[in-house]
Amino acid sequence: MPPYVMQSMSHLMNTYARLPVSFTHGKGVWLWDSNGKRYLDALSGIAVNTLGHAHPRLTENLAKQANKLIHVSNLYQVSEQEIAAEKLCTLTRMQQAFFCNSGCEANEAAIKLARLYGHQQDIDNPAIIVMEKAFHGRTLATLSATGNRKVQAGFEPLVKGFVRVPYNDLDAVQQVAEHNHDVIAVLVEPIQGEGGIRTLDIHYLENLRKICDQYNWLLMLDEVQCGIGRTGKWFAHQHTGILPDVMTLAKGIGSGIPVGVCLAAGKAANIFKPGNHGSTFGGNPLACVAVQTTLTVMEQDQLIQNAATVGEFLLRNLRSRLASVAGVVEIRGQGLMIGIELNRNCLELVRHALDEGLLINVTDEKVIRLLPAIIFTPDEAQQLLDKLCPLIINFLAQGS
Ligand SMILES: *Cc1c(COP(=O)(O)O)cnc(C)c1O
Repeated sequence: MPPYVMQSMSHLMNTYARLPVSFTHGKGVWLWDSNGKRYLDALSGIAVNTLGHAHPRLTENLAKQANKLIHVSNLYQVSEQEIAAEKLCTLTRMQQAFFCNSGCEANEAAIKLARLYGHQQDIDNPAIIVMEKAFHGRTLATLSATGNRKVQAGFEPLVKGFVRVPYNDLDAVQQVAEHNHDVIAVLVEPIQGEGGIRTLDIHYLENLRKICDQYNWLLMLDEVQCGIGRTGKWFAHQHTGILPDVMTLAKGIGSGIPVGVCLAAGKAANIFKPGNHGSTFGGNPLACVAVQTTLTVMEQDQLIQNAATVGEFLLRNLRSRLASVAGVVEIRGQGLMIGIELNRNCLELVRHALDEGLLINVTDEKVIRLLPAIIFTPDEAQQLLDKLCPLIINFLAQGS
């Protein structure tokens, strides 16, 4: 690594403990570093590069759009935004979209929308139920909604108006419903990402939907990580029959171009009026072409089905190769959103994998997280298994 990229010399704020590797280009699910070494990418930029790297249809459409128009602002009609919104609303059965540039911004929009909804009912201090181990972003409101002290510590005073309950615990929600009449919404990830790939019981969302209807709350789903085909459905909640009132998306929706969206339907539609919310960059023509292309390629190439079958293949093989290994606590997830929980801190595995030419992540200290691009083929999945499983087995053997 050349000395000018060393952390001590860098002019970047020290917000990330970066790995000592710098990539120059990619193709599909492969990346090459500045020394020409090749890596299998099982993280896809943290669930962002839906179509992998340098997807020809995406780069072509982006180049075409950049040659025409990149940005004009939301002071004008943006036809690319209308088209992207229509497509998203069709897929989600939602009614309206607000475009922004990231997941935290999409959640900020949802939080503001919920508060306005509360004030419309003369609730002066509207509260939103949020979950333990949730992750909703790094802005002040979203870190306050996040259920991780490490994300919050040092940034007090936190934003008020959040009531926390354990994840996957309907009784806890019911308890709050009976005692707190300021609640106006619930914000929940159908599968927790940063929190350690934690899944909900099969009927949780359906029953939560019933509670929300009973108390006139908004059901707000944060699908920033689990949405856009990742779990083998377009959106993770579509494994159930329910519809949310609000849903947030970002990460994979632009295949690497920064885009976030807050979608609303039913009683959550038409809450915002001009002047209530905005974004200078949000939904610019380039970003919306990234969204349109991502969704179109996913449809044309049947990538949702691919995520389901390759994800199933990975889960099955991880379980058969690792489940009985001492130190492996649980292998869980859905589609191409997979967590392997070990009984000890395994952050160093990320470094071991890097040496072996494999990009993975560890979250919540003990959970190996796989978020491969949804173009992953069975053959690439086999290569992932053959690289990853020995690494985990060796790591656990050494420690015991
Ligand atoms: C990553 C993530 C966010 C924050 O998205 P940013 O684009 O980093 O602001 C919010 N919610 C969930 C579930 C996420 O995984």
